Amino acid sequence: QHFLNRIAQHDKAINSFITVTPEQALAQAAAADKLLAEGKGADLTGVPLAHKDIFCTQGVLTTCGSKMLENFVAPYNATIVENCQNVGLVMLGKTSMDEFAMGSDNESSYFGAVHNPWDSSRVPGGSSGGSAAAVAAGFAPFATGSDTGGSIRQPASFCGLTGIKPTYGRVSRYGMVAYASSFDQAGSFGKTAEDCAYLLNVLSGHDSKDSTSANKDVPDFVASLTSKRQTNASHDKPLQGLRIGIPTEYFADGLNSEVKASVEAALKQYQALGASLVDVNLTKPEITLATYYLLAPAEASSNLSRYDGVRYGYRCDSPKNLEDLYTRSRSEGFGAEVQRRILMGTYALSAGYFDAYYVKAQKVRRLISQDFAKAFESCDVIATPTAPTTAYKIGASLSPAEIYMGDVYTIGVNLAGLPSLSHSVGFDSDNLPVGLQLIAKAWDEETLLQTADAYQ
Ligand code: GLN
Repeated sequence: QHFLNRIAQHDKAINSFITVTPEQALAQAAAADKLLAEGKGADLTGVPLAHKDIFCTQGVLTTCGSKMLENFVAPYNATIVENCQNVGLVMLGKTSMDEFAMGSDNESSYFGAVHNPWDSSRVPGGSSGGSAAAVAAGFAPFATGSDTGGSIRQPASFCGLTGIKPTYGRVSRYGMVAYASSFDQAGSFGKTAEDCAYLLNVLSGHDSKDSTSANKDVPDFVASLTSKRQTNASHDKPLQGLRIGIPTEYFADGLNSEVKASVEAALKQYQALGASLVDVNLTKPEITLATYYLLAPAEASSNLSRYDGVRYGYRCDSPKNLEDLYTRSRSEGFGAEVQRRILMGTYALSAGYFDAYYVKAQKVRRLISQDFAKAFESCDVIATPTAPTTAYKIGASLSPAEIYMGDVYTIGVNLAGLPSLSHSVGFDSDNLPVGLQLIAKAWDEETLLQTADAYQ
């Protein structure tokens, strides 16, 4: 009730929720109270959370931030939604996002821009901007997000939160609306690494309904944080022995000087905690950016072909024939950025360009992974800024290319399928949060969480 009241009172100014579900939330909370009274509750029984509106929720709207799915009610729950219900987490509602998760500022949501709680004239980041704003505004203790190229880490950075994108395959994609399937991965937002660990425990695990879900044991992320804290309790250098790789390419041109200064101060703090810094090299960010913005739209153009006005989603009025039905349903149902991605992707996949662009980008993708593998020969975790800037003004009218540039530090991780976390390290002179990104080897979310936890 406390969180529902806060949402009712303050979300008009933030616009972080597309749908709030008070009746269901209170019913789930009552059921949780009953379980707890009977001594049958688990760790998270009765704790509220918000889900990004990309996850299918049975009986509750799932819009993906689009007019195309404005009235779509899924007939089933995404696996992670089901997992959350099973441990007694209480869903407060569904949060706003860039349309189909394509964007970095939440301004492409059909349901309007979301305001950053730190400064309501600014964006919260994207595409999971609604989840980040909701947690930062105290509307929910934690929230789910999805990250195809930075959509958890960048809004975490803009909103002063911790957000983790796990290794590709760690969390089921079943029931998560597809953007670029070989990149998409769900994860968690919280105020701290510990909060993220609690939620990640619930989200993770093999799912036979997702063919890319890994059949791998999942560590207890909370237990591993706790045991690490115990071993370190009497240690003034808890990160002794940890080698943090610093990719010089990620601290070069285009990085705002105040962001750079905050991140460098945090790295000094990491050294004070016992970590050592080593220089490493990664693929040049501009190459990574070009590769991502070729491959992700290619996958999107294929995934989004299912919205044809026939099976589900928006259908135009009085189509003249089948072609008109397809054309107008898609032209009217999709926003400008989604149409831009479909056009770019279709171009890259078309006969004549496929080898020159798509196949070439796939090869570069492999090289990017190899560069990460090489860097991890001399370090345990890599640290970079999460984004080149802090939150910018709503309506700043950046060009698509300028917006894409903001993803320059986060997308390499998705191309390589690695786990990565962003945590807050301070503020710029406008009092806006600055984030630092940590990247680990595949399946090593524990190191990310433990490292951030030692800092926090
Ligand atoms: N900003 C990136 C894009 O627009 C990443 C989005 C995401 O991670 N979903 O593609």
